[in-house]
Amino acid sequence: LYITFEGGEACGKTTQIELTQNWLRDLGYQLTVSREPGGTELGQQLRNLILHGPKDIDPRCEVLLYLADRAYHVATKIRPALEAGQVVVQDRYFDSAVAYQGAARKLGVSEVRDLNLWAVEGLIPEITFLLDIDPRVSMQRRAGATDRIEEEPSAFHIKVREQYLALAAAEPQRFHVLNASDSIEELQAQIREVLLGALEK
Ligand code: C5P
Ligand code: MG
Repeated sequence: LYITFEGGEACGKTTQIELTQNWLRDLGYQLTVSREPGGTELGQQLRNLILHGPKDIDPRCEVLLYLADRAYHVATKIRPALEAGQVVVQDRYFDSAVAYQGAARKLGVSEVRDLNLWAVEGLIPEITFLLDIDPRVSMQRRAGATDRIEEEPSAFHIKVREQYLALAAAEPQRFHVLNASDSIEELQAQIREVLLGALEK
């Protein structure tokens, strides 16, 4: 079972992933927990380049760096884990690229999606949780953030959110949209309910 978490800045993905992984482990599942960018050693270096590297990295270069991270991550870590029968819980996947680079950076939603599907040889998660949040609310949560993306003006983050919601509407089977303003406990309860349904199958 391949589960991904998506959402804008400070939506609470990290907290929910932590709680979800502890719960799944207690239930006895073999897990791989990872993230993009940066789920491998090569990926850490790419993540550092993307988020803290030269200011003149343009959107096309940026998308290709993300793709290099993703292709390597899927080939060396995610696909083997799935083939070994593990549950994979992942912080961001190609939906992030479609929302951030395709929509917000205006590289084209279908182009970025196609490039990504090529890079991962068509690997699509069974379940994607979208922690949806109004960027004006999350702005307040992330005071003090320092990386390149988090300095983007709010119009950028509004586009990211709109694209995520469009993706979710287009694939209602895969996406579960959660209101990231709900409490940590409420969110976790909703996540567990969805996962229990999927794990019983
Ligand atoms: O996953 P995390 O929130 O740590 O992501 C790190 C940063 O990379 C975030 O600021 C996010 O907006 C940005 N990002 C991006 N495009 C992606 C994936 C992440 O701009 N495709
Ligand atoms: Mg995080």
